[in-house]
Amino acid sequence: MSQKNIKRRDFLKKTGAVTVAGAGAVIAAPNVMASTRKHRWKIVSTWPPNSPLFQTGVERFAKRVKELTSGQLTLQVFAAGELIPAFGAFEAVSKGMVQAGAGASYYWAGKSSAAQWFSSVPFGLNAQGMNSWFYAGGGLKLWEETYAPFNLIPRPYGNTGLQMGGWFNKEITSVDDFKGLKMRIPGLGGKVIKKVGGTPVLLPGGEIFTALERGVLDATEFVGPLHDMRMGFYKAAKYYYTPGWHEPGTVLEVFFNKTAYEKLPKSLQLALDTAAAENNIWMLAEFDAQNGNALRTLINKHKVQIRHFSDETLSELHKVALEVMQEEASKDDQAQKVHQAFNKFQDRVGAWSAVSEKVYHQLIAKKVAL
Ligand code: CA
Repeated sequence: MSQKNIKRRDFLKKTGAVTVAGAGAVIAAPNVMASTRKHRWKIVSTWPPNSPLFQTGVERFAKRVKELTSGQLTLQVFAAGELIPAFGAFEAVSKGMVQAGAGASYYWAGKSSAAQWFSSVPFGLNAQGMNSWFYAGGGLKLWEETYAPFNLIPRPYGNTGLQMGGWFNKEITSVDDFKGLKMRIPGLGGKVIKKVGGTPVLLPGGEIFTALERGVLDATEFVGPLHDMRMGFYKAAKYYYTPGWHEPGTVLEVFFNKTAYEKLPKSLQLALDTAAAENNIWMLAEFDAQNGNALRTLINKHKVQIRHFSDETLSELHKVALEVMQEEASKDDQAQKVHQAFNKFQDRVGAWSAVSEKVYHQLIAKKVAL
């Protein structure tokens, strides 16, 4: 050791600078540890294992978060029933039993009527419109406000796109044909069917086919060509109706326990938000591409007949749907607030779509051969 260094060491000892420097190192350490600390979360979903796009979407989301954070935040995925029953997800995350959940907000109508507007409402916005409402029209802020009393933070993270109107054993030529019809159709769509004289039936996915085949059901809706083909509905019902007026663009959600989310460093919160937004783009793209392929198979291979609800039928259903939404909105103040904001936004983008997307689709539809 050189004479100069010895002197420097003595000087540091005398002045106590070593102690100061040492304390500085100790103070700095927790900051370093906090920024690299690993966070292991659990995410529970409302869908069965291997359900295409629904459950594979949850797995993809978890994978993306891990990649985006270089493994600093991991989400262990549990399908419905593996840790929590499907419809227990909201409460489990709300209470902090697990940190995250995946579902569709209309599942939680019993907790909050307002929640229903953030998934899909009959004759409401399509996928593009919902994204516009969330990201550019104040919709996400209203959704956060709606979930805040439950200590939850919601994010849109997928969309099924426009669904199909359902499978029917007889042709539907007017709204009167719904009278006495036993149809599996949950939620708000079910309420509309009931008001026009039908009998909405609630059945889990796995029981629909048998009920339809045995005539316990006259009709069922489910999702779109990809999922409906997998269920084999074409073997039990002849007519496949469009459009899915009751679910014009169903939003799928992830939601986080607010306390857990707020404890994360900002960069990890951003990773969750970014992964959700990116998953949202991916899922709609997959639904569109895969539904397109499945529809072709249904028509060409399985000889399914596509039918369109008439304008008059849709107009009648629309009238009734507006009444249903009015009733749902009157259940609490937040629902009323969301209902009004949604309508205002839909009127605005609807007027724009009427002179843009609608005109274009009508033009292009004439040139598309199935
Ligand atoms: Ca559906």
